[in-house]
Amino acid sequence: TKSRKPMVAGNWKMNGSLALLTAFTQAVELSTVVDKVLCVPFPYLAAAGKGDFAIGAQDCSQFESGAHTGDIAVSMLKELGVEYVIVGHSERRQDHGESNEDIAAKVSTVLKAGLTPILCVGEPLELRQSNTFKEYVLEQLKAVDEICGRSALSQCVIAYEPIWAIGTGMTATPEQAQEVHEFIRTQISDWCEAAGHSRILYGGSVNASNAELLFAKPDIDGGLIGGASLKIEDFVVICNAAK
Ligand code: PEP
Repeated sequence: TKSRKPMVAGNWKMNGSLALLTAFTQAVELSTVVDKVLCVPFPYLAAAGKGDFAIGAQDCSQFESGAHTGDIAVSMLKELGVEYVIVGHSERRQDHGESNEDIAAKVSTVLKAGLTPILCVGEPLELRQSNTFKEYVLEQLKAVDEICGRSALSQCVIAYEPIWAIGTGMTATPEQAQEVHEFIRTQISDWCEAAGHSRILYGGSVNASNAELLFAKPDIDGGLIGGASLKIEDFVVICNAAK
């Protein structure tokens, strides 16, 4: 058993329905050994509090309030009982042009509100192939460390999500994931000792059959689950694999 409490966080992305949420609310059971989180689309957050899981949002504004039509303030999320906010998901970086600096600003806003960011990092396929992926991931983390301050990463959950593995079925091998997780842990504990104790989740085509071997690795503290978090049976199996 690891010293860090495992976590399994589902990321529904722009999928699901209120009916599916109700079904999850009835099926997912509270656990004292695994932190279970469901990150549902904004309109479902208010209804998500009835389940035996913590609620997460998939993004938030870097601003606290004001003239930002269509954006969501972290204080509003807090009012609904949200505890976690995914920040810097690769789909936000790609679809909305979020930079490392934008993401650091969001991390800062989420921390200031007392919520926990699930900070996503991870490289595109070309950088994996050119063997420069560690430098890339390091830059992503460094931006948060430099802009948000030394202790910021110790207050985040970090999700390593290689982009080539997201939604592709091309899961990183447990060895590939462990290598990067260990690298991340070593680097961030260099900047701030406490950050070495942060949970580092793996994300990228985790499913009911491959979760156990991934989670068995010493620096993999659980997973961020996209597609498989929409199927109750699979999500439950993945949560149990993290025990
Ligand atoms: C994700 O979107 O964070 C993710 C890991 O997706 P998937 O599990 O579908 O690859």
